[in-house]
Amino acid sequence: MVSSVDRVLSIYRKYQRLKGTPYALEMVNFFSKDVGLREYVKKSLAVEFTVGEVLQGVDGEFIHHDEHLEYLEGVSIPEIVDIVGWSVVWKTQSSGEHSKATRSTFYQQKVKFADMFTMLRRYKDRTKRVSEEELRDAITLALYEGDITVYCECPAARFFYRWVQGQLGIAYGRYDQYALNNAPDITNPERKGDTCKHMDYVLSLIPSEFETKIVDSFYETWKSGKRLYS
Ligand SMILES: [Zn+2]
Repeated sequence: MVSSVDRVLSIYRKYQRLKGTPYALEMVNFFSKDVGLREYVKKSLAVEFTVGEVLQGVDGEFIHHDEHLEYLEGVSIPEIVDIVGWSVVWKTQSSGEHSKATRSTFYQQKVKFADMFTMLRRYKDRTKRVSEEELRDAITLALYEGDITVYCECPAARFFYRWVQGQLGIAYGRYDQYALNNAPDITNPERKGDTCKHMDYVLSLIPSEFETKIVDSFYETWKSGKRLYS
């Protein structure tokens, strides 16, 4: 059984390198009719997506992603508008490149740092003295080593990537069920890429622009002992 899992994972990784992000669930279904194995592999695949791995899944060629991102970077700067529990919300001004969105349109991006609580759990024992520095280091590490889920409210995210995100286990939230239930057979038949330019932009900026603010907020959340499970 383990060797079958390894085989699926190695093929998955090879495929990912060759063709960008695969549609994991279809791969799993293809390789195994065994429900137990399938669930195991799904779980293995679903824990693979850190900030860096979501960025690695971007396909720069698909719908001219890199070109549009470069343009967006020249005209917009994302801002953090809210941090709730372990989730961060940004807003990014639209590039205004497409007919339906003008420069006055803003899109929200949400990222949930889904492993944060689990990764910090061992610091929960209050009898053990943990320095602020030690805890901040742990939060920073978890920011990049833990899994995330993502959501952007722009049309591209919905029509090209939302379904793929659902398959990969990186879709934030349960809303937008339409996109999760409908494979993008026309808009993205080869299931290229895993996220829109806004999310790419936001995730790329975390280390240089947003890390301190996020770590400060997560530190306060942990210290207050509130919303630990959110
Ligand atoms: Zn977007």
